[in-house]
This record gives sequence, structure tokens and C-alpha cells, in this order.
Amino acid sequence: ISQLPDTARDWLKGRRLDEVECIVGDLAGVARGKAMPASKFAKQSHFYLPNSIFLQTITGDWASLEDQPFTEPDMVLTPDFSTATAAPWTADVSLQVIHDINDQQGQPVPVAPRNVLKRIVALYAEMGLTPVVAPEMEFYLVAPNVDPGHEIQPPMGRTGRRAAARQAYSMAAIDDFGAVIDDIYDFAEAQGFEIDGILQEGGAGQIEINLRHGDPVLLADEIFYFKRMIREAAFRHESYATFMAKPIQDEPGSAMHIHHSVVDAKTGRNIFSNPDGSENESFAHFIGGLQRHLPAAVALFAPYVNSYRRYVPDYAAPINLSWGRDNRTTGLRVPISGPEARRIENRLPGMDCNPYLGLAASLACGLLGLREKIDPSPEFTAEAYTQEADIPTTLGEALDLFEEDKALHELVTEKFTETYLAVKRLEYKGFMQVISPWEREHLLLNV
Ligand code: GLU
Ligand code: MG
Ligand code: MG
Repeated sequence: ISQLPDTARDWLKGRRLDEVECIVGDLAGVARGKAMPASKFAKQSHFYLPNSIFLQTITGDWASLEDQPFTEPDMVLTPDFSTATAAPWTADVSLQVIHDINDQQGQPVPVAPRNVLKRIVALYAEMGLTPVVAPEMEFYLVAPNVDPGHEIQPPMGRTGRRAAARQAYSMAAIDDFGAVIDDIYDFAEAQGFEIDGILQEGGAGQIEINLRHGDPVLLADEIFYFKRMIREAAFRHESYATFMAKPIQDEPGSAMHIHHSVVDAKTGRNIFSNPDGSENESFAHFIGGLQRHLPAAVALFAPYVNSYRRYVPDYAAPINLSWGRDNRTTGLRVPISGPEARRIENRLPGMDCNPYLGLAASLACGLLGLREKIDPSPEFTAEAYTQEADIPTTLGEALDLFEEDKALHELVTEKFTETYLAVKRLEYKGFMQVISPWEREHLLLNV
């Protein structure tokens, strides 16, 4: 108990802990692990999991790697007590704890997404730098139904007419979903998470939650926890929360924008600004690095076939890598800010991305820009939708681009790259074997 953070200790005050959920994020960023009685947890220092959890596609098939047979030794999971937080929706008194994943020699398992992110943050530290991020979460609340032929709808009986519920920043919608949002506030408070703001996004039933900026690993952990918590909050009010990138045709997609700044580890000063407050070279290079390496990183920002349906003109989604000030049509946006808050928003990641991998990939691109002093393209001042699209348009294309970018592999490791590509290619192959309703509708009798 003495090792727990204050929020977890406060939450436990006067209660008896029943259960501990020992979890890690898999390749999809979804929680896996074991739940155990608190008494058992207290007696053990670690437990084992097979590394095959990182070889599974979203459909549950396993990719095989030549050098990683199924007989490979189990991974060792040890609690990172600083991550302990309440699971406030459960009937009993439960804590969740994210676990570190090492091999039996004590080395971090390179394929584990949280280890990939830690590695990138450590590379910044080696250069005397501390990356700071602020992610945004967009998602839809929808009526519960998993029938594959069913069109996804906003939760029944709450939003009223769809058109009325499709107005960004409408407070009426916040009231409509008040019951779910109240639970999200209560759960976040019990878990010790700080919400910067909640708003109605452009889609019917689409909500956005912004988090306060901070350390990348901390924020990736928060998003990992938030996705689970939001889903649970929605369940309690007969709705589903979906983090699909493009759940509904002709409605906006859901993004996980990432705001980036970098500070000097010693002084804490934002390295994107000169002492007189003006913008400097490092800022330009960070943008240049994103522009050069994002095409390869898209495989991590947009991990499913559905993710690519979001990259279309309009709906404030990105279609290219131009950068602009206060421009929501470019893939990269420089928000209006003072010199200390100078930052760049990467608008490519979809909400379906694994937060650890999305943050790791985005930070890696920026780091390459700083290291290689990459110059960005000139600032773009028009509507970017008038320009050509230059980001990959299918998962297959994105995986090929990821495979080619050796500089990026070096940062996220070859082992991770090889595993990720094997899993995603297997998943893509499975998708390509499906004969869709569109094909039957338009081809059956017409060609
Ligand atoms: N939902 C939009 C997208 O898919 C982003 C909207 C916004 O500007 O926040 O990228
Ligand atoms: Mg938004
Ligand atoms: Mg944004």
C-alpha cells in the first residue's frame, strides 16, 4: 500500500481492497492480463504471460515469426505501482495496475508498445530533451447493437433528431449525454485523471475529451485507462462508446490529435522558442521530421482498414502533410499560442490507434527531424483540401511505407517493426478475402 500513488490510496481509504487487475496494453492498445484477489497480489512480485499476445491480429488470428516460435520463454510482468488506479465501475473494490514487461533476463520486451514509447522518450533524454504531449480523444456514443448488417446510430431516446445532435460545441448534446458524462467525471476523479474539457464534436453522438499536457508515458497510460473507463461508463447507460476511426458513413471520423512541444530537460524552457519569444529552427526541424517520416508512421496512426476511411476531404480530417497556422485542414496545425506553449498538433492519428504506438511514432518522427535538421515545406495558408492527398490511402500501402523507413525502425526497433508488420499483414489479408455487401450490390447482376 505504501507504494501506491495518493489518488489510489485516497480511494481505498476506509475500504477493503478485494481485487487487483494486473494489466498491459496489447498491440491494439487493449487491456490484457489477470485479475487476482488482493491477498494473492500482495504475496507475489511478478507473474508470467506468453509473448504470443503480441502476435495476435484484431480478429484473433496469430501471425508467426520465423525467429519467434511459440515455445519462446514467457514474459515477466512486474507491477509499475505508480500507475495504480481505481477501477471505480466494478461492484467490488478493485485496483488496476499497469505492469512492466521484461524478458527472463530482465530486458524490456521490445515488442511491448509501452516499451516502444519508453524507448523513444529515453532517446530524447539522451539529447537532454523532455517531450511534452497533449492528446485529444474523440469518440461516438452509439445505440448498443453489434449486428453486422446494422447501421450505427446515436443512442436511442436521447439525441432526438440526428441533425440536431450534429452541432459541434452544442451544450444541448452535452446535456443529452449527461448521464454518461457524469459517470466519466466521477470515474476520472476517482482515478485521479485531470480532464481539460469535454465538448460535443461534429458528429451526432460524437464527444471529445481533452487531457492536460504532460509526460508521454503518463498520458498514453491515461488514454489506455480512459478508453476502458469511457466504454464502461457508456455500458451503464445502455450505450456503447466506439473508438473506431470512421464508424458512420458521411459523418466525421474520430481523431486522437497529439499536441507536441519539447522542453530542455535542465531549464524546462520550450526549445521551440528563442529567448525573445520568436520561433526557432528546432520548431521548423520538428515539423520537417514529421513531414518526412509521417507517411511511414501512418501504419501506426491508422492501424485498421477502417482508419483510412477517415482520411477524406472535409470533416476536419487530414489528407496531406502540409502545415499551417490555425488551419484545421492541414495534417499539421500550429495553434495560436505564446512562446512557452509553442507547439505543433499532429492531426493524423485516429482514435483507433494504440496510444502508446501513436505517441511513440509521432515523437520518433519529430526526433528524426531534430537530429537530421530536416527543413519543412513552406507554411500552407489556404484550404489544404484543394491540394493533392499525400498520405497513404490503404492499410496495405501504409505497411509498405513503414517497411521502407529504416530510420524509423532504428528508433522503434527492428524486432517491433517485424512483428507489427507480420500481424498487420495477416489482418489485411483476412480483410481482402471478405466479399463485401458493396460488391454484391453493384457487381452481382451488373457486370
Ligand atoms: N474529427 C476530426 C477528424 O477526424 C477532427 C475534428 C477537429 O478538428 O477536432 O480528424
Ligand atoms: Mg476535435
Ligand atoms: Mg485538435
